[in-house]
Amino acid sequence: MAKYDYDLFVIGAGSGGVRAARLAAMSGAKVAIAEEDRVGGTCVIRGCVPKKFMVYASEFAHHFKTAKGYGWTVDNARFDWPTFLAEKDKEIARLSGIYVRNLQNAGAELAHGKAKLLDAHTLEIDKVGTKTADKILISTGGQAWRPTEIPGAELGITSKEAFHLTELPKRIVIAGGGYIAVEFAGIFNGLGVETTLVYRGPNILRGFDDDVRSHVTEEMEKRGIKVVLGTQHASVEKTATGILSKFTNGHEHESDVLMWAVGRRPYVEGLGLEKAGVELNEAGAVKVDEFSKTNVDNIWAVGDVTDRINLTPVAIREGAAFAETVFYDRPTSFDHEMVASAVFSQPPIGSVGLSEADARHKYGKVDIYLSRQRPMKYTFTGSEERALLKLVVDCESQKVVGCHVVGPDSPEIIQMAAIAMKMGVTKAQWDATCAVHPTLAEELVTMREKYVPMGLGQVA
Ligand SMILES: Cc1cc2nc3c(=O)[nH]c(=O)nc-3n(C[C@H](O)[C@H](O)[C@H](O)COP(=O)(O)OP(=O)(O)OC[C@H]3O[C@@H](n4cnc5c(N)ncnc54)[C@H](O)[C@@H]3O)c2cc1C
Repeated sequence: MAKYDYDLFVIGAGSGGVRAARLAAMSGAKVAIAEEDRVGGTCVIRGCVPKKFMVYASEFAHHFKTAKGYGWTVDNARFDWPTFLAEKDKEIARLSGIYVRNLQNAGAELAHGKAKLLDAHTLEIDKVGTKTADKILISTGGQAWRPTEIPGAELGITSKEAFHLTELPKRIVIAGGGYIAVEFAGIFNGLGVETTLVYRGPNILRGFDDDVRSHVTEEMEKRGIKVVLGTQHASVEKTATGILSKFTNGHEHESDVLMWAVGRRPYVEGLGLEKAGVELNEAGAVKVDEFSKTNVDNIWAVGDVTDRINLTPVAIREGAAFAETVFYDRPTSFDHEMVASAVFSQPPIGSVGLSEADARHKYGKVDIYLSRQRPMKYTFTGSEERALLKLVVDCESQKVVGCHVVGPDSPEIIQMAAIAMKMGVTKAQWDATCAVHPTLAEELVTMREKYVPMGLGQVA
């Protein structure tokens, strides 16, 4: 008789957990996966996917404006939030169903309920009971949080609730400067909501290239978003007409909805990690080695709960690498270098590799190639919108170590740039590539002049 109920028990059926469970089950292992909410996790249910639908919905306002410049009459265009929500939810339900079927087809058992560890091999799953497993994978993701130390913080929603607002507000305040805050600012603004983004730092999108950060801020403001920097909430109050945000700089602003987008934290509450002896790092994330193994010999963790790079494709690759290593006897560690990412701001960002500041820190001398231009589509419309393309090149090796694009289709463009950069492309090889015309991306292979910031003279 088998010593344990399962060879592998996965906690959390999101991007990383589902991939790991499917691959492990396909190897012939007996696998179960617990999910306390809906199968698919953050990405499918309350993250990337519904967010991108909302971005699409909100972009039409801008498309209609552009269309006019091309001779179209698009009068009386109206948006119906409940219709959109119903269609979005239908699609999310369809996708979640596909995830469930994929797990079943692979032979993995699904346990609906919150799982917690009782020791390193025993789990208790709400409404299911106690189960044992030889190996355990923690893939419980992350969670949005509210700054509860601010009086009235509970009056604000997070991104989780933003997908289900019963009514589209007329005015929204979004607190935060990360990509989720910026994306939702674009969404609500595009849908006609008076949008104010408030961030305590000197510029939004910390960690991105500084030129990208200031360029996107300018473009967001051109589209009508009010960006308030250098202050944060002191308190929040309910009024007869809405929600009053009071800021540390003494200003006040009333809105119908306040959304906290102040970051996400690894979701470890109630997991019983201490009972199994699983260690966390200083950031409260599960501590793992390059094979995603925790300090406990039979327990691994992948995805946002480990707080490495918190993106869906990364969680999927970490989950796959875990299964390869443990169930196919092919030790595989996912390489976290040169992971491209997109911000679906309006205009969007595509970015891979190092920012100029990080590259200067790492390599000392870098060459910068930078171009700002009006996207061709807008030359007809009088729009002042500008695109930004920037390459960061290590002086010594001449390798392209950073590529950053702000403008139409930049998330699509950056995927291709990432392949070349992952292969270690040099600027000369980049330049030897013939342009595709007429496109925005062609500028990437035609930038020959090194960029010298105004007033700096000739610098390397
Ligand atoms: C608004 C938003 C937009 C995003 N946009 C993008 C994007 O455009 N591109 C991108 O790459 N990434 C995006 N992300 C990030 C992406 O969603 C995550 O990186 C990804 O989902 C992480 O996968 P995961 O498997 O680690 O965790 P998750 O997908 O969060 O899955 C964890 C699952 O575990 C379940 N769970 C937790 N604890 C337990 C328990 N004790 N028992 C049972 N089940 C449990 C949860 O219910 C959840 O379903 C976005 C995130 C948010 C919030």
